[in-house]
Amino acid sequence: MTEFHSDLSCPPIPDDVSTAQFLLDSHHPTRPLRSGNIPWLIEDKTGRTIGYEELRSRTYGLANAMHARWGIGNDDVVCIFSPNHVDYPVVIWAAHRLGAIVSCANPAYMMDELVHQLAVSKSFLVISHPDFIDTALAAVRRCNISTDNIVLIDSPAADGPIHFSTVSHLILEGLASSASFLDIKLAPGEGKTKLAFLSFSSGTTGKPKAVAIPHYAVIANVIQMAAYHKVNEPYTTWDKRRFRPGDIAAGVLPFFHIYGLVVNMHWLIFCGISLVVIPKFNFVEFLKSIDRHKVTHLFLVPSQVVLLCKHPAAKNFDLSRIRFFISGAAPLSPELTQQLIKVIPNASIGQGYGMTETCATISMIPVSQHIGTFGSAGQLIPETTARVVKADGTLAGYDEEGELHVTGPQMALRYTNNEEATRETFRDGWVRTGDQVKISRSGEIFVVDRLKEVMKVRGFQVAPAELEGHLLLHPDIADVCVVGVPDEYSGEVPLAFVTLEQRAAQKAKANPEGGDELKKSIIKHVSDTKVHYKWLKGGVEFIDTIPKNPSGKLLRRHLRDKAKEIVAKR
Ligand code: AMP
Repeated sequence: MTEFHSDLSCPPIPDDVSTAQFLLDSHHPTRPLRSGNIPWLIEDKTGRTIGYEELRSRTYGLANAMHARWGIGNDDVVCIFSPNHVDYPVVIWAAHRLGAIVSCANPAYMMDELVHQLAVSKSFLVISHPDFIDTALAAVRRCNISTDNIVLIDSPAADGPIHFSTVSHLILEGLASSASFLDIKLAPGEGKTKLAFLSFSSGTTGKPKAVAIPHYAVIANVIQMAAYHKVNEPYTTWDKRRFRPGDIAAGVLPFFHIYGLVVNMHWLIFCGISLVVIPKFNFVEFLKSIDRHKVTHLFLVPSQVVLLCKHPAAKNFDLSRIRFFISGAAPLSPELTQQLIKVIPNASIGQGYGMTETCATISMIPVSQHIGTFGSAGQLIPETTARVVKADGTLAGYDEEGELHVTGPQMALRYTNNEEATRETFRDGWVRTGDQVKISRSGEIFVVDRLKEVMKVRGFQVAPAELEGHLLLHPDIADVCVVGVPDEYSGEVPLAFVTLEQRAAQKAKANPEGGDELKKSIIKHVSDTKVHYKWLKGGVEFIDTIPKNPSGKLLRRHLRDKAKEIVAKR
């Protein structure tokens, strides 16, 4: 056995259209025919529904105005700095109609984090939510982008920023003026290289990088997830058991992350499911939203599953309508799956697995299973091929562990402007996932460990290199290594091993209370400038030297084990 293939197939994937043209202008055999008045989006707070006609016309109006005002066109980068919003897909598809590229940023980012994304992606226009305008403004100024290039995705509050255009104003402007833009026309095959997104991921090592994702990859993944017929069988019909007209999904996963962007937004819209657009995850409010909108489909991350299973409020809500549930972005344990079955007894429950670099999904619970095999990240989706590479470089067979390498039409192309990292992860159309897996005879993928240094905190990536670089700016720190330690709710949380500068070390030794103060100041050094999930919730441990191999590489694994022991003793 050298390669693992899906035994499922899917119809041809169009390679000459943008995501906007694919979703708004065309039909595909894997797509259900929509019955007229089923909404595409539902605004959580107001219940406002937005259907196909409205989405299409808003997209058109915005594209027209963005072209007329700023001349947005081929390969300009538009950054969206906003929580989930009903105009989020409108901004994406308007940019895509113009041939522009979209880079979605976490609205909880602090200024330096946003500066990094704007600079690496070379963003030209920033669509910000008014609640986060201060950060956007500071970052835009730092990047020498004109403040005239900021647009608000929502109307500001009465005391909010008033001197920016809003997406709604632009849409009205664009709809009122005659057409000034031409929808991009892609030649056959061009969709495979024409970029749609620059999504941020740390990959196996180092700081977050811009993953270059072409239109074809997004369209492919949507079709791959929707198709389920066996190779050599004629395409029959779309999956009636997973999705039916009138199904309603909670859109609570952040659209800035590949899981929210491709699976929650693009795939579900393609499948004809109404998506309730929820800007912020607050568990009790989320339960109310499920109730209010009669949600049938949930796509969550394991930390949210912990709340479903353990938070007392969950018992006060009727979750019997939930028919379909997927967990992704981090491992879901068999124990938690067992508990979840009791909480949502009428649901099919399984996992999906993938990464930003594989835009997005590689494997998913197969349609043939009602409850996925416990601990399994699902089976390969159609047209996806995997290899499991053992530590000695040879290919693994069934049930043997090794690093997962994958290929398929959904793969991203490279890290933009980073040849070294590209060489590490993208080779000959294959992506090296940095995950240790084994694949069973029945095709189930089990993620056994993470070989790469990136941590997953509540499904979000935390790059040790980013935190280490920042911690070295602390005046008392001589050397540092950040590792993840297990945490019941978050999956893992960062812990910093720190070697102190000589004077600080002497002081800390002489006065343990002073040492505690110093630890607090190190923790604050991170929380002052980094988004909340990067904070050192695992704590700070002083250590005489950071262990390294003869060539100076951190012995991270050694410290990871040590951290586990320390946390177990606490
Ligand atoms: P991201 O690019 O942020 O989506 O992170 C991708 C990484 O998340 C993968 O390489 C895995 O390490 C992890 N991951 C995603 N889905 C799963 C899953 N179902 N089980 C275990 N790990 C997962």
